[in-house]
Amino acid sequence: MDRAGGLRFLTVLAALFFSAAATADRDTINWDEVDLAAERRAIENFQRYDQLLQNVGWKLAQANWEFCDRVMPATGLHLQDMASYGSPQIARRALGLSGDFAVQTVAEGSPADLSNSLPSNREIVGLAGINPNEWESQGPFDWRRLARVHDLIDEAVEGYDSITLDFKDNNVAVIASVPVCATRFELMGKGKKALADGRRVVIGIEFPAFQYEEDEFAALLAHELAHNLLSHTAWLDRNKRKRRNVRMTEREADRLIPWLLANAGYDPRAGKRFFEKWGPNGDGGLFRNRSHDGWDERAEFVEAEIHQIEALIVQHDKADWRTHFQREIDPHQGLENGQR
Ligand SMILES: [Zn+2]
Repeated sequence: MDRAGGLRFLTVLAALFFSAAATADRDTINWDEVDLAAERRAIENFQRYDQLLQNVGWKLAQANWEFCDRVMPATGLHLQDMASYGSPQIARRALGLSGDFAVQTVAEGSPADLSNSLPSNREIVGLAGINPNEWESQGPFDWRRLARVHDLIDEAVEGYDSITLDFKDNNVAVIASVPVCATRFELMGKGKKALADGRRVVIGIEFPAFQYEEDEFAALLAHELAHNLLSHTAWLDRNKRKRRNVRMTEREADRLIPWLLANAGYDPRAGKRFFEKWGPNGDGGLFRNRSHDGWDERAEFVEAEIHQIEALIVQHDKADWRTHFQREIDPHQGLENGQR
């Protein structure tokens, strides 16, 4: 699922960007027919969506780290690899790069952002002393190499708390890390899906919530992030995806929304507003099948948490969902050693 998801993500992304010049790399490109400014605008448009996704995802994952089971150090830096585009040559030229790697986005408030050295599309030729351009690429639509690069960044900061970046212009930057809940946020270049697979939260660029208020968009991400934080994929793998089981995990994810929002400084009531805005006109998908409650019930479940959250915030400044959140499922159910 992870693999297929990644493949779909970058294939459609490339198709979306390079509709005019999408036919992969040919031996010779007729550059007179390529509108480089339009190609660059398409990339920048995608980056704007990704910027919002990374900003909000970062806020949620960072502000809740002390309550998460799986924590990792992170920089907030996301790169792009020209090999993942339909025509690496065109993408390279549109962005003015000589190699394949450049900054995609840095999450607002992250160490990468605070370094003030990582504007979008700045070319990078070294990560912890390794030049990823030397890694073989599988040509157009290769998404695996970029995944490896992000793994490399994670491993570097895991071991050393920071990572050294070498830029094409010979400058160097050392980027620090801070702890976050271990989840990656990824933008899908097409479609209106929202999903969580245990390690990632993936949102389609056409999901309507991109146009909502930021705290309502954050509610969508919080729902998906909650699935990962509460290990729902692994629990459902162990206990089967019966309708009742799915419904319980969905309800948990909904009820955790306002907790994650409040800790990140968002209005916890934005979860209710998200369902009120999305529910009546939503086109179904994951939000309107019988394993889920109706949107109005979901709004009420979110609302029912608010009182407890606000009381905790007043007392402790944070709402400790690890201690105080009432689970719908037994998280240890199906584990071999039973109830821990
Ligand atoms: Zn869900």
